[in-house]
Amino acid sequence: MTQFALKQVTCAVCGGVSEQRTLQCVSTFGRPDLDGRPSVMARSTMGLWTQLCPACGYCATTLTQALPRAREVVHSVTYRARLHHPEAPALFNRFLCLALLHDAEGLVRDSAEFRTHAAWVADDAGLEESARRCRSEAADLLLNAPPLKHWEHREDLDWQGWRGVQLVDLLRRAGRGEEALREVERIRREGASSLMKQLLTYESAAIARGDTGRHTVDEGLGLPSPPELQPIKDPLLEYLVGNYHRLLTDTEQRASSMETFNTEEGPRWATDHPEILALLTEGKAGLGRALERRLLAEHPDEVVINRCPKCGVPARTAKARQCRACPHTWRETPR
Ligand SMILES: [Zn+2]
Ligand SMILES: [Zn+2]
Repeated sequence: MTQFALKQVTCAVCGGVSEQRTLQCVSTFGRPDLDGRPSVMARSTMGLWTQLCPACGYCATTLTQALPRAREVVHSVTYRARLHHPEAPALFNRFLCLALLHDAEGLVRDSAEFRTHAAWVADDAGLEESARRCRSEAADLLLNAPPLKHWEHREDLDWQGWRGVQLVDLLRRAGRGEEALREVERIRREGASSLMKQLLTYESAAIARGDTGRHTVDEGLGLPSPPELQPIKDPLLEYLVGNYHRLLTDTEQRASSMETFNTEEGPRWATDHPEILALLTEGKAGLGRALERRLLAEHPDEVVINRCPKCGVPARTAKARQCRACPHTWRETPR
């Protein structure tokens, strides 16, 4: 769920007080675009990612905080011209003002991020040339940025190389295909997860056909829908997840909803996590059987497997008296 709140905020640049809408929480549902743009729910809140002080024109993610050179930048001619640029959407101007504020501090990665956000606003407004320019500028900043100290260390194993994929996508969509292909090679040398390597293969193919359009991570992986919407497919596993979700570990839950994607070597599970892969060595059906054994052994008083007395397929719930696989229905509690 997405929630908003109204709050009195004091501007760190001019001390002016204004009422600002702030984002309390955002649900993300589904994977992002290849340039990092979040899926539908989060993207619709983009207007609330920045605050604007009505008194002095300071733009920030939080008006109560200011970078050391903020006052100077806010009063500069360049900044005022950008903020009040009459032909661009107001939100586009705001994101570029944020980029200017971060340029002044030498915070190139932040500046690149705000230019990318401006590109998304331009996409929505159909301003193709502005979008292309913002992406190109963001890519230049990232190409010249000093390497990160701990390169993507805190990220999930399966998303290692994701920053690189986003840079490739910025270059591709800016029409700089050759540079994008050089980045693809560099990222492959540095090492990326199986998922990210698949996205790089997808990017390379898109570049080869001159495609500069928007594509999603799901498209890149050949997935039809986000994992939350994927059927589990094994009836026993579906029964256990549906009825005893709370008894499953995080790893078991992730393994249960794991999808496969296609690579040049054939289909494979969409993860590099060894503990998840271990649970899936005998597929979803094998995971279902293993979970049934574990749950019955550890929670004998609580767990009931309600199978159809005729065909043996688990029903949907513990109380169901109708088979999902055959036409059979039954009255008394099956055993
Ligand atoms: Zn102010
Ligand atoms: Zn049946």
